[in-house]
Amino acid sequence: MSELSNKIEIVKARLKEEFLSDTRPWVVTFSGGKDSTTVLHLVVDMLLEMKNEGVKQSKKVYVVSSDTGVEMPLIEDYVGNKLNQIREFSKNEHLDIHVEKLSPKVTESFWTLLLGKGYPSPNQTFRWCTDRMKIRPATYFLKSLSDKNESILMLLGVRSDESVSRAASIERRTDNHRGFSMHPDIPNAFIYSPIKDWTNPEVWAFLSTHPAPWGKHEDMMVLYDKGSGEGDCNVALNPESSSCGKTRFGCWVCTVVGKDKSMDNMLKNPEDMWMKPLHEFRNLLEEYRDPDSGKRQPRRRNGQKSIGPFKLETRKELLEKLLSTEKDLKAELAGKTLISDDEIVQLQVEWLNDGDFFESAINLAKKYGRNVNYESVKAFNEDEQDYIDGICKENDINKELIDHIMQCEHSYRHHSIRSKAFSEFETIVERFAKGQLNEV
Ligand code: SF4
Repeated sequence: MSELSNKIEIVKARLKEEFLSDTRPWVVTFSGGKDSTTVLHLVVDMLLEMKNEGVKQSKKVYVVSSDTGVEMPLIEDYVGNKLNQIREFSKNEHLDIHVEKLSPKVTESFWTLLLGKGYPSPNQTFRWCTDRMKIRPATYFLKSLSDKNESILMLLGVRSDESVSRAASIERRTDNHRGFSMHPDIPNAFIYSPIKDWTNPEVWAFLSTHPAPWGKHEDMMVLYDKGSGEGDCNVALNPESSSCGKTRFGCWVCTVVGKDKSMDNMLKNPEDMWMKPLHEFRNLLEEYRDPDSGKRQPRRRNGQKSIGPFKLETRKELLEKLLSTEKDLKAELAGKTLISDDEIVQLQVEWLNDGDFFESAINLAKKYGRNVNYESVKAFNEDEQDYIDGICKENDINKELIDHIMQCEHSYRHHSIRSKAFSEFETIVERFAKGQLNEV
């Protein structure tokens, strides 16, 4: 028996032993990458073997995957297809497998935070995205599962030979007598890494010689061929992961890496060239993040004088660019959108707080063919907007200046003393006269 065959048998026997030893549900984290695919494959093989032996499946197995809403389209399609195949396969085979996609709440999504609240595009020092888009959705799910059960076991596809830091983190773990470690944040959640001592070539050898029970692995190999790099940004599902953003299985908007090599490589393939506008948009996000770009407010939201969030004007510009990119790529996106209706509505809610009375997000969406269901809350209706436009025209007053003054007035709506607003109006007019209006 080869060394790999030996390892496969050892892992399957161990999985079976653990599976039968208690009733805690298992959670297999699935990113679509080779390591998590290998673990899932081994678990499904084990379930099938038990079924053939007439052993009843005594516990549920959850297959969970993260969907940030800004996944690279090729990967989103790939993972979505795999999850469907696994669902279908489990149903046909009568396996107790539940497939779950974990997404951020609309109030914590990438677009709500970046375009709605103006968070600067994430980088290594301010990487707000992984927490909101991956860690929190996974934590909500795992906590609720662990609350309903005495304990849960998470099966991760991490391996010591992935990197020196991964080896060190596996080494640092305090495993119990069954080889499980405690999840650092989820009470009663344990972690098990069945392939931690497998090498990279062994993983590939396994996948290329063992067809997936639910379909095939070849499509994944094609994806790996197209990109480069090895990591997955699945830190949420995998608490031992220290890196995110150096990955082919990441977000298309990712600005945490200086250069998106994965996308660069994909764009070398003629059939993937259509994603170039996405890459350009991502580069724009990186460029606009620069404090000298003029795209950010010179103050933070707490009033501190330091480079702050994206200006409302910048956010409008970016939304328009995003919607026009989406429209241009309509055929290629095949029914998918780059930003959801719920997110557009949430942007409008956020923008209203920043004094956007003209429902710009909803109007931009309309302009680009999106029919978003939005109940106007407080903004001016079209007649009122026309009326204000008319007055500005009649009196030769700049509309943008009036917008800024109204936004400023709106920001004082909860103040009992509003006299300070007048000095701010003066500042706005002064800056307008100097051509520096958008620095306010
Ligand atoms: S891939 Fe990049 S943008 Fe996406 S969560 Fe990870 S670090 Fe953030």
